[in-house]
Amino acid sequence: MKPKLHIGVLALQGAFAAHAEALRKCGAEVRLVRTQEDLSGLHGLVIPGGESTTMSNLLVASGLSEVLKGLCQDGFPMFGTCAGMIMLAETILDGRSDQVSLRVLNIDIRRNGYGRQNDSFEQDISVHSFDTPFHALFIRAPVIEAIGSDVEVLASWGDRPVLVRTANTLACSFHPELVSDLRIHKIFLSIVENFSVTNPR
Ligand code: GLN
Repeated sequence: MKPKLHIGVLALQGAFAAHAEALRKCGAEVRLVRTQEDLSGLHGLVIPGGESTTMSNLLVASGLSEVLKGLCQDGFPMFGTCAGMIMLAETILDGRSDQVSLRVLNIDIRRNGYGRQNDSFEQDISVHSFDTPFHALFIRAPVIEAIGSDVEVLASWGDRPVLVRTANTLACSFHPELVSDLRIHKIFLSIVENFSVTNPR
């Protein structure tokens, strides 16, 4: 039997509980992360949706932003959804002036780029390597306006990428934790598995 993957879910703010449940359903051991100590022994981290300006404040106040930046530099696997994707982005085009991000994913992102709360919507999207569409919920979702050459697009809606990855990072502008379909979480777990095989603890 394969050893269990230990996955952290950043739990400072936002939709962390639903991610924890989805990851457990995929067979992962899940820990909510609020301090640096909570990161010990993990194989990967999920940064949930919520409000990126608040998350940024809390990351700085808790000292976690510097710790997570260091982990990113070591290639530690991370999965960001919605506000979590904003937290991973290299460039936030319309961030608050004091807003920080981990700058591990080479994308330019615009917050609320699809409109505000009333403009939230649901859409079936085609995802690379899935045989059937994925039902994606977009809630005050950020828009990816540009991507770097090292970023692979796994799904688009209209002419915009909505699910992207690099070797160790996965990010989407929608909320896969709010539907029962676990396929996107499983992509992340395969990224984590690959990383932990090549970088044993
Ligand atoms: N618009 C939010 C932000 O800027 C993100 C919304 C979400 O995570 N559902 O952080």
